[in-house]
Amino acid sequence: MLVVFIGPPGAGKGTQARRLAADLGVPHLSTGDILRHAIERDTPLGRQAASFMNQGRLVPDSVVIDIVGQRIAEPDCAGGCLLDGFPRTIEQARALDELLQGRAASIDIVLELRVDRKELLRRMLSRSQLEGRADDTPETIAQRFEVYGRQTEPLLDFYRDRKVLRSVDGMGTPDEVFARIRACVAAK
Ligand code: ADP
Repeated sequence: MLVVFIGPPGAGKGTQARRLAADLGVPHLSTGDILRHAIERDTPLGRQAASFMNQGRLVPDSVVIDIVGQRIAEPDCAGGCLLDGFPRTIEQARALDELLQGRAASIDIVLELRVDRKELLRRMLSRSQLEGRADDTPETIAQRFEVYGRQTEPLLDFYRDRKVLRSVDGMGTPDEVFARIRACVAAK
């Protein structure tokens, strides 16, 4: 099963994606997590990604496409995986198509998590206090919303046209949201 999660910053993608991956028994592949680990370990990839991430901008397509290409070629992804935070641009979506074509695989479902702007802001500001994520400052948050609207939202139409998009209400407790996600995936 190949599942893609799309949602604005603060929508709870990470939490829900991790849970759904465990439930489906497929690897959880978060480009944000991979990049953050690279930054922590101060690898060449981390050094390249840090300035983009800290400004709330996207890391260049070629960089993340390479990361995902390598990761989904690993044996544990043979039965599918859950992509969290990728694709985030139309170019990444096209690259994913090519990667999957090469493996005779296709996307089963794209889940959009919808949360209103006021709640997103509230969640992100509380996360910045709890986790101290470097990109959770007010300026960076505003920039990430702008980037989401301009670069990532166009993907919703892209996947809607292919009839794989399902939008899920992301308001409420994590358990409530997860129940909706599960129902969506089960109906597929
Ligand atoms: P959020 O959805 O809260 O912004 P993520 O952990 O998914 O959190 O992403 C954090 C940052 O990592 C992004 O703002 C961006 O700089 C970088 N990033 C993650 N995934 C991608 C991607 N697919 N393309 C480009 N940049 C990415």
